[in-house]
Amino acid sequence: MKKYPLAKPYITKAEEKGVLEVLRSGSLSLGPKYEEFEKRFAKKVGAKYAAAVSSGTAGLHLAIIAAGIGPGDEVITSPFSFIASANCILYVGAKPVFVDIDPLIYNIDSQKIEARITKRTKAILVVHIFGQTADMIPIMKLAKKYKLKIIEDACESIGATYCDCSAGTFGESAVFAFYPNKQMTTGEGGMLVTDKKNIYNLCCSLRNQGRSENMRWLDHKYLGYNYRMDEMSAALGLAQLKKLDFMIKERRKIAGWYNKHLAAYADIIRTPDTAAVNTHTWFVYVVQLLSDKIRRDRVINLLRLEGIATKPYLPPIHLFDFYKKRFNYKKGDFPIAEDVGSRSLALPIYIGLKEKDIKYIVNKLIKLL
Ligand SMILES: *Cc1c(COP(=O)(O)O)cnc(C)c1O
Repeated sequence: MKKYPLAKPYITKAEEKGVLEVLRSGSLSLGPKYEEFEKRFAKKVGAKYAAAVSSGTAGLHLAIIAAGIGPGDEVITSPFSFIASANCILYVGAKPVFVDIDPLIYNIDSQKIEARITKRTKAILVVHIFGQTADMIPIMKLAKKYKLKIIEDACESIGATYCDCSAGTFGESAVFAFYPNKQMTTGEGGMLVTDKKNIYNLCCSLRNQGRSENMRWLDHKYLGYNYRMDEMSAALGLAQLKKLDFMIKERRKIAGWYNKHLAAYADIIRTPDTAAVNTHTWFVYVVQLLSDKIRRDRVINLLRLEGIATKPYLPPIHLFDFYKKRFNYKKGDFPIAEDVGSRSLALPIYIGLKEKDIKYIVNKLIKLL
């Protein structure tokens, strides 16, 4: 039986060579690789500065600190995301204020934001979910009107564009992630990008124990962290960045095959939509099971027995235990996020899948349904 994982990194000789070179150099941290990775990454995204960090979550934590957000502040964000985008707001003692999502694109519904803005609102943390950006023009208008900062969680949407502008160029800072299931990987790792020199400098200091800018190792200006990216990861990132365009093209091809082979079943499965002004880079390929009679979790178990890994994407954050306890959230608070989450099914997408694999997966899924 052929086995299909949900995701798989695309690692070739170039990555092996890069990492081996670092290992043999003896310079395993704070060497030349992470700086080169930062420079190339900033250029790719179209940002002035990039700071490599140990994870996307670490990058989001620094972005929130650099925005001056702290206890008593509110940050508007989406409940339909990976938990890190809301947790980073809690790390600094601020409060995530959720706004429900658009039912087709699954990003925060820009029309519902204004009603949730209060005197305490400091920022909008926009999550670009699944590989396409949120509806940024109305969000940026609101931010301007109410003097709010925008921070982008672009961890799932590297390479995506909105009205021809790149994900990561809309906020005062934006964060990308390189966990092995993302469009490109460094093992663990992340990148914060910004056009603001002061934010860049602060984040560089905070990721390195709050070390002062005059580079003296033991002179600490702030309460910092160890959020550094090591050189092996940076070498991996450099090799991956070189083939990012190719990898995105491959993901688009696979998504296209799913769309094609699922088209005949539109009465039971909804394929993903892409907004007219967006380009999609397919972190995941998520369909919606439309029939109320179908038990999604049973479908997942049965597909697993067929060797096909699938997953709910995503269970909404407000219904996780400690969010419910802390903020008294309950079922029904964000009905669209809940409905989308409960019907969702992420299908395998990774480089190496052929059209015949997609046909096979679609056939198994349809037969089960
Ligand atoms: C992957 C991801 C992150 C960061 O994840 P790390 O595992 O910390 O790199 C943050 N937000 C979203 C939406 C993500 O998908």
